[in-house]
Amino acid sequence: MEREELYKFFKSLDRSLFMDNEYKEYAHCDNAFPIGYGQTISQPSLVYSMTEKLKLDKDLKVLEIGTGSGYQTAFLAEFAKEVYTVEIIRELSLKAQERLKKLGYDNVKFKIGDGSQGWPEHQPYDRIIVTAAAGRVPDPLVEQLKPGGRMIIPVGERSIQNLLLIEKKDDGTVVQENLEPVVFVELKGRYGWDR
Ligand code: SAH
Repeated sequence: MEREELYKFFKSLDRSLFMDNEYKEYAHCDNAFPIGYGQTISQPSLVYSMTEKLKLDKDLKVLEIGTGSGYQTAFLAEFAKEVYTVEIIRELSLKAQERLKKLGYDNVKFKIGDGSQGWPEHQPYDRIIVTAAAGRVPDPLVEQLKPGGRMIIPVGERSIQNLLLIEKKDDGTVVQENLEPVVFVELKGRYGWDR
């Protein structure tokens, strides 16, 4: 994924397409906004930097946890081969499915359910991105990451987290790096805050 291509796409993608409430008119602002059901659409600059850190390529398979509005999903679909995205709130997933279909993406598979357990049927994944915050890294996600793969996930307290970059080396060892402090809504489910 070339940086220029990502930047071009970032500028061309109208975020208001992923919003349908009174915040739509502020879609161009670099803020997170409510999308209903107590959830949020992330700020564009963060979606940009998380996508960049993933180092996507057109031959890679990506797992996304937290489809939300589908805004981040569009970046993944644009720069990866296949995207598997899991959302726990049915209504949000259905809306995201409609939006991404309208934009012409046919390389995204959607699941409604608990993504803290990953999506075992399609493992292993070259890349995993989690857009909700966990108290600790869910073991199933590390297991479903391919050797040589990378995962981005916010981990920490409910109020603030560290964005972690986790790399699984070819020999299976796992290393992690703290990228930056971030604030995400909580990851629910068995390996999230409901554990
Ligand atoms: N990337 C999204 C951000 C969505 S906010 C966007 O750009 O719009 C995080 C999302 O994670 C919410 O929609 C929330 O419902 C979802 N979520 C929380 N816990 C989850 C879980 N265990 N499995 C799947 N989705 C989950």
